[in-house]
Amino acid sequence: MSTESTLTTQEVVDITRTTNYGTWRFQKGWNPMHIVDAKDCTITDAAGKTYLDFSSQLMCMNLGHKNEAVIASIAKQAQDLAYAMPGYATTARAELSKLLLEVLPKGLNKFFFTTSGTDANEAAFKIARMYTGKTKIIARYRSYHGSTSGSIAATGDPRRWAMEPRGKQQGVIFAPEVNCFRCPIKHTYPQCGIACADYLEHMIRNESDVAAVLVEPIVGTNGVLVPPDEYMPKLRKICDEYGVLLIADEVMTGWGRTGKWFAMEHWGVTPDILTTAKGITSAYVPLGLCATSEKIGDFFQDHYFAHGHTYEAHPMTLAPGTATINEMKRLNLVERAADFAPYVQERLEAIKAKHPSVGDVRGKGLFWAVDLVKNRTTREPFNTYADKVSGKPLLVDQIAGKCLAEGVIIQAWVSHFVIAPPLIVTKEELDHGLDMLDKHLAIADALVEADAPL
Ligand code: PMP
Repeated sequence: MSTESTLTTQEVVDITRTTNYGTWRFQKGWNPMHIVDAKDCTITDAAGKTYLDFSSQLMCMNLGHKNEAVIASIAKQAQDLAYAMPGYATTARAELSKLLLEVLPKGLNKFFFTTSGTDANEAAFKIARMYTGKTKIIARYRSYHGSTSGSIAATGDPRRWAMEPRGKQQGVIFAPEVNCFRCPIKHTYPQCGIACADYLEHMIRNESDVAAVLVEPIVGTNGVLVPPDEYMPKLRKICDEYGVLLIADEVMTGWGRTGKWFAMEHWGVTPDILTTAKGITSAYVPLGLCATSEKIGDFFQDHYFAHGHTYEAHPMTLAPGTATINEMKRLNLVERAADFAPYVQERLEAIKAKHPSVGDVRGKGLFWAVDLVKNRTTREPFNTYADKVSGKPLLVDQIAGKCLAEGVIIQAWVSHFVIAPPLIVTKEELDHGLDMLDKHLAIADALVEADAPL
């Protein structure tokens, strides 16, 4: 056991499920696993069973568990200075800010530190609105930007529905997502000429009062949707032409996950605002960041910056941020993710060739999706979002359950799997996780062959 608690595992599970909300689910049937220990890419449950974590625990723990340097930074910061009001300068704040200037895309040099990805996005929306004097945010369907009022309103996927119309914020409008596998406007790349970006331009032209366009550079939970190479440069040009800010939500794609420090670097595009969280501390402590351009920073020299939190720039979150970045550099983790990509792609292509239920594999770095289809021609998924939010059992969860029973944690989502192990993963671990998925995809193949959808 990693704690001194006298609670039994049954008590831990029962207290948790009766007194806490299980999030993004019906409460009925929640039976959380009791995790007691973790090291590198593995976690251990109370029965002593060890699991390979092929998801980095929500695509966060890029450094894996029990990184000595990060642990030491937390202990030292707690000893030195656990908290200071955000109006003060602290060494932890200056150290991380200095390092961020080095690793963030050049030109993003004014920072607001938060405690999650959600509130980093909330800050971005407010900053964009204050700076431009405009209101509307164009987000895209099949996107996720967080769970609080503004960020859930900007989320294109149906997790938003439970809040509508009560939680609907004024001013968010949705453009079509970039999804070349299931194009929402029924085009085919490259003949389309990136019509989805043209449509977004059409929206800006026909709307008034647009402050910003908000994108996940590679859409995360909603399917690891990698845009064609032309999309981001085209979007940058459109935003510049109409004086609209470009916000890149790199909460999931930042910190080496895609084989670059930040995914926007794949296309040489610098956003006006970049938000991030998760990998910034490898999830050892909750830290988010909203980074803006100098131009935006300068604006607030003589305009009131009407934003802030008690826990903003909390020293206990910033020191491990510095330690995480230093560890990523020491271990060459960004390069490591990039170097693994061709091998993962090769293995996933082989899995696709073998399994009729796999319609598409796509990704970058150590961030991939395996997309299941009932039928390769129609590309119809086994389940839809409507199934998920109505509590219907999902085929991907059944397959992930089989993998879990054999000691591999794989993130399943609606009708695809996300492959996102910690960036310290070894080739043997990669093979083990992929072999496990390969094995249990037989369940989906059988449904394709029997033409008997779930
Ligand atoms: N944006 C994206 C792209 C995300 O993936 C997430 C979380 N999965 C968020 C925002 C919200 O971050 P958090 O859960 O830290 O609030």
